[in-house]
Amino acid sequence: MLGLRGALVVFAVYQCVFSGVCAFPRVQSSGFGSAKHVIIFGCDGFGGMYLENATSFLPNVNKFYTDGAHTTRARDQMPSVSAPNWATIITGMGPEESGVPDNDWVPPDDNPPNVTVHALPPISGKGKIPETMWRAAKSQDSSVVVAVTESWDWIYYLVEDGIVDYNFRCMEHKPDLMFIHFLSIDEAGHAYSWGSPQYYDAVKSVDGYIGEIMTAFHTAGIYNDTLFILTADHGGYGFGHGQFDEVCMYIPALFMGPQVKKGYQISGYTTDKDFAPTALNALGLHPGEYMVGKVVEEIYET
Ligand SMILES: [Zn+2]
Repeated sequence: MLGLRGALVVFAVYQCVFSGVCAFPRVQSSGFGSAKHVIIFGCDGFGGMYLENATSFLPNVNKFYTDGAHTTRARDQMPSVSAPNWATIITGMGPEESGVPDNDWVPPDDNPPNVTVHALPPISGKGKIPETMWRAAKSQDSSVVVAVTESWDWIYYLVEDGIVDYNFRCMEHKPDLMFIHFLSIDEAGHAYSWGSPQYYDAVKSVDGYIGEIMTAFHTAGIYNDTLFILTADHGGYGFGHGQFDEVCMYIPALFMGPQVKKGYQISGYTTDKDFAPTALNALGLHPGEYMVGKVVEEIYET
């Protein structure tokens, strides 16, 4: 039996074929398809409050302020530690949805299937890990080229064979979707405390790496076609993090690229669930089926 859903699909096809107008056009968000490439700079431990008033000695991060849209008060998820929040950034799901509650999470061994060793399975249900933004991208367009570089081994759990095309080899292939993770700011925080001179030295060195990558994008001729995103998994205080407070929970959300407003301060509620949907949207792809974050539409010129 066709059922209501089937009847609606038939009607939609009829409309497309005979009237040239699709009955169910997908609503497209601002910025949809505005970029040919997206790169996410993931700066481990770079709390939003530590970026405030620091742009004067961060020339490359400062470009996001002059040429893009920014907030230092986006929010991460509890607990404010790395694995749940990198999983959130990479999947567009919070810990309750991704099933990654803490840094001890490891992929399940499939016995029983789809059950992690100590927690709930992801709502995406399929496979051993929650659905990543790169899997969501490839499921819509198999030609999307994905590159990931991570400096914390845990992230490798989310680097899927056959989905991520290049691990640790980014620029020579001009990937469409890139994620680069820098660990050194978090390491400096744990060793010398958040906000210490050594912490800011690490921030400055990451700013330098970002500058080198931006130069490589210029050289490759893709700078003007790229949406650049900079964020973090959490901040910190003293020698650690994990708490529910401003220094741990506020993270930067910086965007720069085609159609992105320049010198714009983001005022809407933004979380680390929003980066994956925003990245896919910029590439002309729809958010993954299980993503609960939103496209940060206010960054775009209308
Ligand atoms: Zn840490």
